[in-house]
Amino acid sequence: MFPAAFEYVRANSLDDVFAAFQKYGGDARVLAGGQSLIPAMRLRLAQPAVLVDINPIGNLAYLKEDGGALKIGALTRHADLEFSPLIQSKYGIMADVARVVADPIVRNRGTLCGAIAHNDPAADWTAAALAGNASVVATKKGGSRTIPIDDFLVDSFTNALQPGELVTEVIWPSPDGRTAGAYMKIERKVGDYATAAVAARLTLDAQGNVASAGIGMCAVGPQAMRAKAGEKLLAGGAPSDDRIAAAAESAAKECDPAEDTRGSVDFKRDLIRVLVSRALTTARGRIKK
Ligand SMILES: Cc1cc2nc3c(=O)[nH]c(=O)nc-3n(C[C@H](O)[C@H](O)[C@H](O)COP(=O)(O)OP(=O)(O)OC[C@H]3O[C@@H](n4cnc5c(N)ncnc54)[C@H](O)[C@@H]3O)c2cc1C
Repeated sequence: MFPAAFEYVRANSLDDVFAAFQKYGGDARVLAGGQSLIPAMRLRLAQPAVLVDINPIGNLAYLKEDGGALKIGALTRHADLEFSPLIQSKYGIMADVARVVADPIVRNRGTLCGAIAHNDPAADWTAAALAGNASVVATKKGGSRTIPIDDFLVDSFTNALQPGELVTEVIWPSPDGRTAGAYMKIERKVGDYATAAVAARLTLDAQGNVASAGIGMCAVGPQAMRAKAGEKLLAGGAPSDDRIAAAAESAAKECDPAEDTRGSVDFKRDLIRVLVSRALTTARGRIKK
C-alpha cells in the first residue's frame, strides 16, 4: 500500500525542526530511521500530514561517555551500537540488544531514540532502558528537560513528549565495576519482534549483595514494563540462585501478556520466568570479580 499524501520538510538544524513544529503544530511528525513510521504510514495506521526529516542534521549521531553516563544521539543507529567497541566491552545489555533488534537492514537505519519514542509494546530498547535506568532528553525551542524512562513511557505507542518537543538524546548510566546486565529475547525467527524478552541488571555493593536490580520486560504488556516486585526481592541480599528464582517467579506474575499468534498467556509468562532467571544469572556472571 501507499501512504496518504504528506508534506516533507528537510531539517538541516534543530531550528528548522522547531520552525516546522511552529508552522504545522500537531500535524508534524519527526522522521528518524523511518523503520517504524514508514511501514505504519504504508498501512495507513499513521497518516501524518507533515514529515520533518531530521536525518540531514549533522550533529545528532553520536555515542559518547560524559559525566558517568553514555549519551546516545537521536541519529545514532542500532548498527552504530552493534559495532561499537565501547558498547561491546562495557555495556552488556546494550550489546545484547543491538545484535537482536530486527535484521541488519533495519539496524542500519533505525535509531535507538526513535525506538524509544515510538514505544512499541515489543520494542527491545524500551525494556533495556528500564533495566538500565536510562533517561530521555526532550528538547524544544529554548530548552531541554530530562525525563526518566519510567515517566517517558506512557502507554502503547505513547510517550511523554509535549507539543514542540523532540528527543535529542538518551542518557544511559555507565556501569561501574560492580554492575552488569544482559538481554535475552525469544523470537519466532531471526529478525522478528520478541515473543517475550527480558533485560536484567545487577549492581552489587562492597559485600557482594545486590545494591539495586533492574528487570525490564517487553512484548508482555501494553508497553515495556518493569518487574518491580522482582527487583525488590533481589535488593539487599546475595544474588543467589534461590533469590534469582524468586525474582523470576515474581516477574512471571507481574507481566501482563495477551494471547496472539506468538503464544498463549501461560506460555509467555513461563518464557518470562525462564528469561529473567537466565538474564540475571548471566548478569551475575558478567560482574567483574
Ligand atoms: C522488518 C522490521 C522488523 C523490526 N523488528 C524489530 C524488533 O525486533 N525489535 C524492535 O525493537 N524493533 C523492531 N523494528 C522497529 C525498528 O527497531 C525501528 O528502527 C524503531 O522502532 C524506530 O526507530 P526509527 O529511527 O526507525 O524511527 P522512525 O520510524 O523514524 O519513527 C518512529 C516514531 O518515533 C518518532 N520519532 C523518531 N525519532 C524521534 C525523535 N528523535 N524525537 C521524537 N520522536 C521521534 C517518529 O515521529 C515516529 O512516530 C522493526 C522494524 C522493521 C521494519
